[in-house]
Amino acid sequence: MTAVAVLPQTSDVVKATIDGLHRFIEAEVLPLEQRYKATLQDERQLFRPDGRLVDDILAARNHIRHRSAQAGFYTMFAPQELGGGGLGRSVAAPVLESLYRKYGPGRLLIGWANGFLTSPVVAKLLDGPSPIFLSMEPEMRQHYLPALIAGDKTVCFALTEPGAGSDLWGLQTQARRDGGGWLVSGTKQWITNAPYADYALVFAVTDGHQLAQRQGGITCFLVDASCPGYQVNAILPLMGHLGSDLGLISLDEVRLDADHVIGPVDRAFDIAMSAISEARLSLAASCLGLAEWALDRSLEYAQQRQAFGLPLAEHQAIQFMLADIAIDIYTTKYMVLQTAHLLDDYPRTARLPIKEISIAKAYGVEMLQRVMDRAIQIHGAMGLSNELCLEEGFRIARTLRIPDGTSEIQRRTIARQLLKGDTAF
Ligand SMILES: Cc1cc2nc3c(=O)[nH]c(=O)nc-3n(C[C@H](O)[C@H](O)[C@H](O)COP(=O)(O)OP(=O)(O)OC[C@H]3O[C@@H](n4cnc5c(N)ncnc54)[C@H](O)[C@@H]3O)c2cc1C
Repeated sequence: MTAVAVLPQTSDVVKATIDGLHRFIEAEVLPLEQRYKATLQDERQLFRPDGRLVDDILAARNHIRHRSAQAGFYTMFAPQELGGGGLGRSVAAPVLESLYRKYGPGRLLIGWANGFLTSPVVAKLLDGPSPIFLSMEPEMRQHYLPALIAGDKTVCFALTEPGAGSDLWGLQTQARRDGGGWLVSGTKQWITNAPYADYALVFAVTDGHQLAQRQGGITCFLVDASCPGYQVNAILPLMGHLGSDLGLISLDEVRLDADHVIGPVDRAFDIAMSAISEARLSLAASCLGLAEWALDRSLEYAQQRQAFGLPLAEHQAIQFMLADIAIDIYTTKYMVLQTAHLLDDYPRTARLPIKEISIAKAYGVEMLQRVMDRAIQIHGAMGLSNELCLEEGFRIARTLRIPDGTSEIQRRTIARQLLKGDTAF
């Protein structure tokens, strides 16, 4: 196994980025959290009856996104060729870890709360100016990217359908050539940021024969959400919340010019998978930070709360739970950093760490669920109360076993890599 050469957290770039990001949040986000505290804490005020966020909160999220873009944080992980900061995964992993360690779950204006996988502070790889745009025609990039980079507009990644989730070869959204352009029809489901996105990256079948052979036939299109025939029909609340950022999109004969194709026609399966791979690793890094946040809360509480004449921390059963949390965190940390390092080294090494990314995603989210469960147990009834956000952390952990490839699909990928001979560790 390649050793973790330089612990990325110790690098100056990482330190400076973390310090700057935390200062930005203190100056720009925390005052807004304070101003909208009552709304943020009560979902009956937070969501409209259709599950969308109320206007004040949407405006606050848009404001934060703009300010973060101006300060250089929003797109710091997007490729430099697209106008982003170009920071690699060895920087992204510790930065995301520190963000979620400090602020924890349930912070809608920072990221990851109430079924929201999007963040107005740091663009996630699927809803901001992602590497997918590298495959876009240069003139189209010039037209669409500036507003995405400035945080004026956002995009969603519309791959999953009612009949095709894990098995993407079951896609049914069709794009057929019409004159010099395309007509796209179909339904996309569980699409993060669909309710608010200005654009959608829509994956559609352009060759049914190649699709049936599982060899191609899927093409990626950039669709403007204001196009006739494009509609967000429903918001899909999750895990006991009254709203979410997930939407159901319908496309009814949406007309697109030829230059709205991203990458080669029929070859978008790989584009989709490489974007999802990136997202898997950042998700694992964020889970690591949330787990550390839960450990910090548990340590504080176990030392302060008394039972049977002793602080909880003096009881061995509680100590064992704390120790198990630490074992989980330490294991995940090195898994995430090592994978980030391997991914940054590709293509120099020509070794895309496919199985390592799947291991980090599966382990990271399952670890987070174990950690949140133990943290709730250490806190007793307080752990279940909405006030501490541990229960929100538990719900996030449970939710994350599904998107960007379920835990079963990660294991399927790992096993397939092993059977192909990828047994290096
Ligand atoms: C919070 C959230 C955000 C999401 N955001 C997006 C988004 O932005 N864009 C987007 O396109 N999609 C998004 N999705 C959809 C997500 O990618 C799919 O839900 C996911 O790929 C699983 O598909 P499915 O739900 O249809 O489950 P299915 O594919 O129907 O799977 C059902 C069950 O069968 C198991 N299974 C399936 N195949 C196998 C197999 N070969 N071996 C073993 N077990 C198997 C699965 O693991 C699962 O347990 C999001 C989902 C969630 C929950």
